[in-house]
Amino acid sequence: MTFQKISMSEGKLNVPDFPIIPFISGDGIGPEIWEQAQKIFDQAVKMAYGEKHAIQWKEVLAGEKAFQITGEWLPEETLATIREYLVAIKGPLTTPIGGGIRSLNVALRQQLDLYTCVRPVRYFEGTPSPMKHPERTNMVVFRENTEDIYAGIEFVAGSQEASSLITYLQKAFNVQTIRFPETSSIGIKPISSEGTKRLVRAALNYAVEQKRQTVTLVHKGNIMKFTEGGFKKWGYEVANEEFSEQTFTWTTYDQLKSEQGEAAANQALATAKENGKIIVKDCIADIFLEELIARPEDHEIVATMNLNGDYISDALAATVGGVGIAPGANINYQTGHAIFEATHGTAPKFAGQNKVNPCSVLLSGTLLFRYIGWNEVADAIEQAIEQAIASQRVTFDFARLLPGATEVSLSEFSQQIFDHLAK
Ligand code: NAD
Repeated sequence: MTFQKISMSEGKLNVPDFPIIPFISGDGIGPEIWEQAQKIFDQAVKMAYGEKHAIQWKEVLAGEKAFQITGEWLPEETLATIREYLVAIKGPLTTPIGGGIRSLNVALRQQLDLYTCVRPVRYFEGTPSPMKHPERTNMVVFRENTEDIYAGIEFVAGSQEASSLITYLQKAFNVQTIRFPETSSIGIKPISSEGTKRLVRAALNYAVEQKRQTVTLVHKGNIMKFTEGGFKKWGYEVANEEFSEQTFTWTTYDQLKSEQGEAAANQALATAKENGKIIVKDCIADIFLEELIARPEDHEIVATMNLNGDYISDALAATVGGVGIAPGANINYQTGHAIFEATHGTAPKFAGQNKVNPCSVLLSGTLLFRYIGWNEVADAIEQAIEQAIASQRVTFDFARLLPGATEVSLSEFSQQIFDHLAK
């Protein structure tokens, strides 16, 4: 068998039968989880496809291991390899203190322009949850990854930059509302139509492919009219202009209501639902945080900006069992570049203890397999995880919340998953 690169042509991924996929094992608990995860991934591929498919995992360096070996936290070679091989998976990385890099994860996302952060949130039977009915949650969050307050344009109170910017705003734009100009820090929030549209397009494409019924644009446009309000407006534009065959939007509903009355608008909505069209709606961010707890079944695909997406995905993860089981993907659908990752950090206090939960990395792997079209592998891993959790022999983070459960180590828990795959 010859292992080859994944490539992209005419907007489509070309996945060879035997792809080479770079991985970063990560810091802290990363390497011990990766060791287990790789065995499980290989076993799942073997069980699904026999000898027809296999993966060659290619290690690339980042984080503490990279620093020890090369003197750099994120070597250029790592970026070049991921650029070349398109699809990679990583464990958590320590954020270096000092030294000019804010966060290795943010640097990777920026360098490869991974503009979509995809976070699926679903419930696995038997997982401890604070909710009475966690199984009602089955959402996929599309979080914009490159804009918003995360652009890092922020100046500390008392600095020359902050004071110049505040004076400029006051003089040039007659801004009167900075309450304490002398002691204010100040930040800038860029939200563009291009950035919004490529993100919402990705969410809509996903909804179409996965046959989902709703897409919700989450924003705070009632207060931030041109940034978050712009996101809502541009989001609806993409749906109306590029997905009119597959969707029915609330802007269409409102237009029909004003032109033909409420009954006609309701009739059009009912017909669209009968015809299996995706309903595209929007929701103010604070109300959405209420609805994700009170009425989670009302939302399936969620498209939102960077900061809202950060809050929402962690709050949602908590309802189905926490960050230990929440996977993530950072994707540029135009170039094909994608990095799949656990959403938790390096948990340094547990490093080397063979103790932690591998599910977040494993489920990130299932996202990778779905991305390259190997859905059977993803399904098999999800099923094996479900069975392992249902056995109630689980890692400490779940065991302490489940009366009657038995705590097992990382390797024992992983072995159960491996054994379920082998059946
Ligand atoms: P963390 O996610 O490492 O830990 C938060 C809590 O969750 C801790 O109690 C930890 O023990 C627990 N936890 C995390 N992963 C777990 C697992 N797999 N199983 C069971 N329990 C688990 O977050 P933190 O403490 O804020 O950050 C530690 C380091 O990780 C920092 O350097 C931070 O910058 C980095 N970090 C990296 C990423 C990433 O690489 N994607 C994400 C977040 C934090």
